[in-house]
Amino acid sequence: MDRTLAADLARLPELLDATRDAAAATLAALDARPVVSVPPPHPAAEPAPPLPEHGAGTEAALAAFAERWAPRLSASAGPRYLGFVTGGATPAALAGDWLTAAHDQNSNSALDGGGQDLERETVTWLRDLFHLSAAHTGTFVSGATMSNTTGLAIAREWLGERLGVSPAEDGAAALGPVRVLSGAPHSSIAKALSVLGLGRASLVPVPTLPGREAVDPAALDRALADAPGRPAVVVANAGTVNTVDFDDLRAITALRERHDFWLHTDAAFGAFAALSPAHAHLTDGLDASDSVCVDLHKWLNVPYDSAVQFTRRRDLQARVFQNAATYLGPLSDDPDLVHLTPENSHRLRALAAWFTLRAYGREGHREIVERDIACARSLGEFLTQDPYFTALAPVRLNVVCFTLTRSPTPARLTALREAAGPEVFVTPTTYAGTPALRAAFSNWRTTQADVRRIAQALHTAAKELG
Ligand SMILES: *Cc1c(COP(=O)(O)O)cnc(C)c1O
Repeated sequence: MDRTLAADLARLPELLDATRDAAAATLAALDARPVVSVPPPHPAAEPAPPLPEHGAGTEAALAAFAERWAPRLSASAGPRYLGFVTGGATPAALAGDWLTAAHDQNSNSALDGGGQDLERETVTWLRDLFHLSAAHTGTFVSGATMSNTTGLAIAREWLGERLGVSPAEDGAAALGPVRVLSGAPHSSIAKALSVLGLGRASLVPVPTLPGREAVDPAALDRALADAPGRPAVVVANAGTVNTVDFDDLRAITALRERHDFWLHTDAAFGAFAALSPAHAHLTDGLDASDSVCVDLHKWLNVPYDSAVQFTRRRDLQARVFQNAATYLGPLSDDPDLVHLTPENSHRLRALAAWFTLRAYGREGHREIVERDIACARSLGEFLTQDPYFTALAPVRLNVVCFTLTRSPTPARLTALREAAGPEVFVTPTTYAGTPALRAAFSNWRTTQADVRRIAQALHTAAKELG
């Protein structure tokens, strides 16, 4: 054994303590440090130091990371990072994630089945959390993009079943032209269609309701009627990123009486509305979907990367992803995870979700979701009362979509983001043709005190901008 490696092995508990101290210090500093460093230092632009010929051990690596990289990383685990839809990591989720690495399981087969069983137990809990029936099975993937890709891969195989071909065997071309209809799909849908050989051009935009990002069911009905006799795929959106609008899932499901389509619902973070009794109606009808995407590294507050893919057709899922090899188990009615996702080797990423659900339960996670919604509402009210800002949409759930009242150019919005940068991180977008900003609440730490700080920081930055 390499001498440095052997020395680290001899001091492993001590090194884990040192790492624990570094992690605890990072978390303790979250509130005080800038949310993002502005302007960002760019060590990436410097030439990389040479690969060490001989290493100096874990302690030296910890010191080098603390000096060179930790300051460059944002406080995205903290309460005022409102970019994208980011979430944080609850204490239990963090503990679960550490232990995931410590156990270093490849949880993909019944030949060594503990990890796979733990994943299945976690999926059962998640199904309950989102009010999905036992008709849905689920698998863990790395994020909503992979979940959408997996769901649409199953949809592709379903189209084949309808048309009497198998894309998994014969390729996507066997299907002929495919239509994937959606009102306001997330960008990852087009990416998934590219990956799956269906092509970005197979995405057919369907008009949304006036002033909304939710699909117009009557327009969807007409679009489906445009290609009679051809099965199609509908991607429903349960929580759009700009304004968290929800398609009417029941109305879409009712269209099945007249049209033949696979219903995939992208509920990446919108599914969490189901945890709040006052908002659960937004996800009514979710269970009727053939496949459902839910992200966990967003509003469940587990560390990156984690999402789940639910489907009612595990048989088709296994047809797409089966990985026949003599050293793996046979493909049964209850296939091993190796036969169900794009991955073969499979991190025990369910453990962080298991920990946080075990530690805080439905109530604990309901409280996080409802507090975040209340924070989004409050920020929406602050900005509505602030003459420097204009809200572009009602706060339906956890995102505030707003812009500068005076001259909302992309350049001025960038300047605003940078000026407010140490206190809050928001991300740019365009909504209804207007350059805008999004503040998305999904972190378990965020409180109303943070909202006041955020509103003040945005106000000060806008005032300076004039
Ligand atoms: C975040 C998001 C995605 C993509 O998720 P990743 O975890 O980044 O892959 C897809 N759809 C919606 C609605 C999202 O919010």
